[in-house]
Amino acid sequence: MNYQSAMIDRRWRSWYPVAEDAEFPLQNLPYGVFERADGQVRVGVALGDQVVDLAELQAAGLLAGTPAADKNLFDQSNLNLFLEQGIDCWTAVRMRLAELLRADSAVLRDDVRLRDRAMIPQAAVQMFMPVRIGNYVDFYSSREHASNVGKMFRDPNKPLLPNWLHLPVGYNGRASSVITSGVNFHRPCGQFNADESGPPSFGPTRQLDIELEVGFITGTGNSLSVPITTWQAANHIFGLVLLNDWSARDIQKWEYVPLGPFLGKSFATSISPWVVPLAALEPFRVAGPLQDPPVLPYLQYEGDWAYDLQLEVWLQTARMNNPQRICRTDFKYMYWNMVQQLAHMTVNGTNVQSGDLYGSGTVSGPTPDSFGSLLELCWKGTQPIRLSSGEERRFLEDGDTVILRGWGQGEGFRVGFGELRTTVLPAKVNVVAENQ
Ligand code: CA
Repeated sequence: MNYQSAMIDRRWRSWYPVAEDAEFPLQNLPYGVFERADGQVRVGVALGDQVVDLAELQAAGLLAGTPAADKNLFDQSNLNLFLEQGIDCWTAVRMRLAELLRADSAVLRDDVRLRDRAMIPQAAVQMFMPVRIGNYVDFYSSREHASNVGKMFRDPNKPLLPNWLHLPVGYNGRASSVITSGVNFHRPCGQFNADESGPPSFGPTRQLDIELEVGFITGTGNSLSVPITTWQAANHIFGLVLLNDWSARDIQKWEYVPLGPFLGKSFATSISPWVVPLAALEPFRVAGPLQDPPVLPYLQYEGDWAYDLQLEVWLQTARMNNPQRICRTDFKYMYWNMVQQLAHMTVNGTNVQSGDLYGSGTVSGPTPDSFGSLLELCWKGTQPIRLSSGEERRFLEDGDTVILRGWGQGEGFRVGFGELRTTVLPAKVNVVAENQ
């Protein structure tokens, strides 16, 4: 079985009403972890404005005929146990859910008491981190982003480093500080060197930035020393999330030579609470950019592995009543794709695990309004963003709220990620004072 077996026909509709431009139609069914009003934490899928409690469906025997029928996979505080079951289980459960929620299926539709227990308005639940993440890797796979950074900090005429067109550059990030929507963090402190001729100073970062990314989560891993090939990779990928790879540019700039990002990145990484299954994104697969020079054989792949997903960043300062869009781009611009990233990641024999998170790298497009970081949008601080409040931004201020959105537009339906929302809190000043 492969993940494409879990595609849901675009003509199917649910008995539960879902608007045509809503992000969670029957074709999506993203997985998340939520807390019920009675305090129980469960795994569910989103449908319209509801969350469907899968533990209730399992307890009622409605997952009969799937590998999840007799297992306690959903009365859980994360998706990990479900992920470990593998693609046959994910496929069977997804297709069973589509059957149960389809307009002509009476079993759940007409069981009012079960519906009352199993379907809860999203507005009434709290969402949690969907996955217990063991490992987090961040790639750097947008040619436009890498070129912009190279132009700003190195050589405008030769912005890419010699390795960039030959391998998907990445680094091992920090899993423990991955947080989900609605979880806010304090502005990080660190060392930076604003006056390059003098010694470094310590304090709250002055250059807090976003990176608009898409992350994928591996459902099943590989054994040590047994790489995953590009043609096997898709069946290891459970699903995708929106990802904001927060970056302190001044800390990053001072620390990154020669080993790469460290404290300028590891203080927080945000992901959306809903994990969209890879099968739900199948209608949006498109050809990626031509790779020239040709890549080495282990990075070659068949089929189209870019995804046409519209991505947006919105910003709302403490003085604004409504957020303002500051970036609009598309995931299809990425030069390196997920199957290449996973093949490259494991080609040395390292073992990826169930519940690992992989960031795409900042998704920047070809036009200035499609750059996925403030560093690029404001071109190293030289072109501030003007906001409807009359304020300007080069980097984020305390109290700023950043919202990421993303979706694929199908024929008569939309598959979205929901919202990833985070507010920047002030630095913990006592920490600064004690360290001065
Ligand atoms: Ca990044």
